[in-house]
Amino acid sequence: MNYITSPQSLTDLLEISTWLQVQDSLSSIIGYEVSISDADGRLLCRPSNENNICRIVKETAIGASLCNDYCGKSIKEAVRKKEPFLFKCHANLYSFTAPIILDEKHQIVILGGHTFFSYRDFTAFIKNVDSLGIDRARILSLNKDLKFSDSMSLKLSCRYINTSANNMLKNTYSQNIFKHKFSQLLTLFNVSTDLSFDISHYEIYGMILNVLGILFDVNTASIMLWASDEGIFKTKTSFGQREDLVLNYTTDAKKGIFGQIMKEHKAVSTRNRFEILETGLPAEIQSLHIFPLFKGEGVSGLIAIFNTDMSEDDKKIIASFCNQVALVLENLKLKSELQEKLKNLSILMEINKAVGSTLDFDKLLQVILEKSTELTKASQGSLMIYDEEKLELAIKATKGFHEKIVEQFRIKPGEGIAGWVLKEGLPIVVEDIERDERFGKKSRPRYKTRSFISIPLKINSRIVGVLNISDKITGEVFSEDDLNLLLSFATHASIAIERSEYYNKSEVLKKISITDQLTELLNRRYFQERLTEEIERSKRYKYPLSLIILDIDNFKNYNDMNGHLVGDEGLRITASCIRNAVRTMDVVARFGGEEFAVILPQTEKDEANIIAERIRKEVEKTYYPMEETQPNGEFTISLGLATYPDDAGEMLELINNADRAMYAAKTQGKNRVISYSSDIINNFNSNPLSLTMNGTNGLSTII
Ligand code: GH3
Ligand code: MG
Ligand code: MG
Repeated sequence: MNYITSPQSLTDLLEISTWLQVQDSLSSIIGYEVSISDADGRLLCRPSNENNICRIVKETAIGASLCNDYCGKSIKEAVRKKEPFLFKCHANLYSFTAPIILDEKHQIVILGGHTFFSYRDFTAFIKNVDSLGIDRARILSLNKDLKFSDSMSLKLSCRYINTSANNMLKNTYSQNIFKHKFSQLLTLFNVSTDLSFDISHYEIYGMILNVLGILFDVNTASIMLWASDEGIFKTKTSFGQREDLVLNYTTDAKKGIFGQIMKEHKAVSTRNRFEILETGLPAEIQSLHIFPLFKGEGVSGLIAIFNTDMSEDDKKIIASFCNQVALVLENLKLKSELQEKLKNLSILMEINKAVGSTLDFDKLLQVILEKSTELTKASQGSLMIYDEEKLELAIKATKGFHEKIVEQFRIKPGEGIAGWVLKEGLPIVVEDIERDERFGKKSRPRYKTRSFISIPLKINSRIVGVLNISDKITGEVFSEDDLNLLLSFATHASIAIERSEYYNKSEVLKKISITDQLTELLNRRYFQERLTEEIERSKRYKYPLSLIILDIDNFKNYNDMNGHLVGDEGLRITASCIRNAVRTMDVVARFGGEEFAVILPQTEKDEANIIAERIRKEVEKTYYPMEETQPNGEFTISLGLATYPDDAGEMLELINNADRAMYAAKTQGKNRVISYSSDIINNFNSNPLSLTMNGTNGLSTII
């Protein structure tokens, strides 16, 4: 048969918005991405619930062409085979395609899934993304939103789509009653989509009956469930004008038409009085339509509609809806399992709290390890911290290991399993180490079981350690669930480590944020902080403090003659000259291009003068490359000095006055130290040139 379907003719049948509604409904019921295309793989509208990985992959030309190779070809394959099938794509995502024949002229294909079955599939895909021209970090950032599935659940969804959607679209369409009935069906679909696990089964049944009642003008209806231990159907809930008649109705599953349903798995209708009486229903019931609900292979329940005239179309729609209800109920069961997992999450939160409140670093690591093993029911584990200086992992906390082993354990990046995790930055679940080809046999720790989990602990993108868990108490292997649980825990653990690592290494970290890269002196911002602190201290303890501001003489010339790189070297040499000349308690900073400042705590002006002179001499006597290009053949500096509280009462005034003294040194011939005095200020104010210089000097840059 030849299908002349094109998106055009399909959109003639139903408006795009309606197709999208169908697609959205299907997608929210099965919980995967769903797209509807024509038989050639042309999409009718944007996919519902689109997987972000697919979206990113399709952005590159290579990615898009590979997607077309896999998804595109699978669509055509489904059309050719006339049946649905599952496939795995180049990104290791699993999907199904289901062909739906509407009539001789129209056919669509539903593609659903795009889901990983395991974390390993994801990591394997990550390794390839560079060759697709995709930014690895972008894909990695999706890590936390990944949802995993399994083949059972995907097959179930595929079966559902194939039967129910096929039924819905095909039958309603070919009967030429599409628009009206379709919208009824869509309502039913949407109701079942809304069913969620936080409402009781009882409420769900009530809702189903209500919608049926309204849409099909039902007189009386009920839902009966199969009680396998008693071998009977029991009414769970009823609806309508005569619900009192059927409220407590139970029936032997072998009896009459019920036996027939159990055997044939098909809906049954009757008006036959004898048949109805045989079922034990009261005489007021004059007609009966029974639709089975399936679970797995058997009938799990029934929807019974009483005293209502129904057309064949209505019956088809309800039958198709029943397929769906069965699936939804099954999904609810899965969701209640999910609830179980959520319970785990609340344990997780408790654990996070315990971890978050521990400040001592070593204790914290031990707590993290204890909690991780508790969470995954592991009997052994270790927590390794990466030593950035020695470039190796060292075990910092253990459970179930001999102390002697621990002391000597050091791992380099790439070495063994933990080394692999450290190098790749990816977590790993190993089901059977003996059969895993990723790891060499050397330097492998001896585990009782052969299954374990190893995950990186990251702070931002930096890996700070590796957490290893092995040997489930139950003897089972670790699952993706265990991994996911551990990963969400690791995020919190890393934050806790970060906090306490900061606590421990605060000096190192502070150094990074407070120093000037070129000279490794303190930067301007930090200089100001320190000066404020020092002045406060001086105020409190009533001792003096001096400040030197110095500026390289003719530095522009040095730069112009020798180039910027030599200029930089001049700055570095000057920095080390200053450092060599001052005492350890003095604070040296670079606070503008070629200007430096030195805070001299607890220092009177006279003493400060001596230190300033020492700095000047140090620079003068030090050889600077190409210093012969300077005007007087020497690399020199000019220094200004002011003292608290004699020369200034607060910080900005102190800086200002030291700066003025420095400019006085410049105007008096450079390469000298000038102490602030009121003479200078008078001089300075009477010199208009000096005033303009004041506006462009370092002072303006630090305020
Ligand atoms: P004076 O004796 O009056 O101080 O004159 P000067 O040439 O030293 O002062 P001027 O302010 O005219 O020039 C300072 C120069 O310092 C200009 C600027 O390019 C240079 N400079 C500022 N920061 C850096 C830096 O980080 N590296 C290098 N190589 N040069 C810098
Ligand atoms: Mg300058
Ligand atoms: Mg200068």
